[in-house]
Amino acid sequence: MNQYSKILEIKDIKLPASVENTILVKYNADLTKDHPQRIMERLLRNLKQDYGIEEKEVKYGETNKNNFDKGNIIDPHGLLNLFLKDVKKRKKNLNNENEINALVKNKPLSVYEDTLNEIDYIKNSYQDFEFKLVNAFSIIAKRNTILGGTYYDIDKKRIIVELETVKNIDFALLSHELVHCYQFLTGKISFNKKDGGVGKLYDVYDEIEAYSRESYIKEGLFGHDYSKNEILNMKDNFGNKIYRNISKRELSISSVKKYYTNNLIPNFEDYLKNEIIYTI
Ligand SMILES: [Zn+2]
Repeated sequence: MNQYSKILEIKDIKLPASVENTILVKYNADLTKDHPQRIMERLLRNLKQDYGIEEKEVKYGETNKNNFDKGNIIDPHGLLNLFLKDVKKRKKNLNNENEINALVKNKPLSVYEDTLNEIDYIKNSYQDFEFKLVNAFSIIAKRNTILGGTYYDIDKKRIIVELETVKNIDFALLSHELVHCYQFLTGKISFNKKDGGVGKLYDVYDEIEAYSRESYIKEGLFGHDYSKNEILNMKDNFGNKIYRNISKRELSISSVKKYYTNNLIPNFEDYLKNEIIYTI
């Protein structure tokens, strides 16, 4: 066993005709803390040396048809169920932790509860969702961070959640994107009709919610609530403020409608004319 085989276990090296050089790889859960770039570098070296395979696409676990939910969720990797299991386990463990003061436990426990309720809401909605893993190694190698994204596929009328993958599933990142899914269903964000990207109702408060959730899922008891300034001052690798163009005013269907009504501005619907908003 070389140092590398501890890091991953090749589950399957089937190469379907349609997806040449697709390799299904399962990472060892114990090593998730290692830097993703290092894990990826070792992975690539190993595939080449030991198997003579030029890696083109790496996926987590096995793509299992049984993981496709029957209803409105397309989730070939079973991400949502894996995450649900994980949150339930955290909740149970924290509840059983007698040494920790109830007051300290309160916040993460309520976050876990909110997370479970929101996933339930998403699963029971009339909106279709698709959860995708994207291998973006070459991009990640340059910027050193793993990203997730949520957008609206206009043709499929479906919300797409994409997570970049280089190591085990990043549940904190998934929790962040799930907050945006829930925000869409509750009229807090919209997508634009042009390309299904960020819409008019998106604002800094949506990111405060998403980053705070991510923080508690990542850090548990040591998680924290993000402030407005923390979001506004976040920088990318090039030192540019990531959220420099985000609205600092809280925008949702109801707040915008209230604003229009209170200021006697006609045609609130006009404002949202080019937006995709959740309607059933
Ligand atoms: Zn976000």
